[in-house]
Amino acid sequence: MAMSERPFDPLDRSWQDYANCLGVDPDLFFPERGASTREAKEVCRGCVVRDECLEFALANGEKFGIWGGMSERERRRIRRQRAVQRRSRTA
Ligand code: SF4
Repeated sequence: MAMSERPFDPLDRSWQDYANCLGVDPDLFFPERGASTREAKEVCRGCVVRDECLEFALANGEKFGIWGGMSERERRRIRRQRAVQRRSRTA
């Protein structure tokens, strides 16, 4: 079963063993404000645990850095979209 097919457990960090960014300078994923995120996103593009990484960041409210190939702004957009979807399902 592919990792992304398993139900996501926000406490499980075993996916990190498969991260494409292992050994890559962490500063790349936490660029200064206004600096390019292109290189970090390029590393994420080929990462097999991209979905797990993104869900981990969303579940843990990570406010900084590139997670799952997405910037803070992109993750905020996903959180807003999911909140809207949850509200529309309960309405
Ligand atoms: S998606 Fe990017 S930041 Fe997340 S584990 Fe993979 S390479 Fe690292």
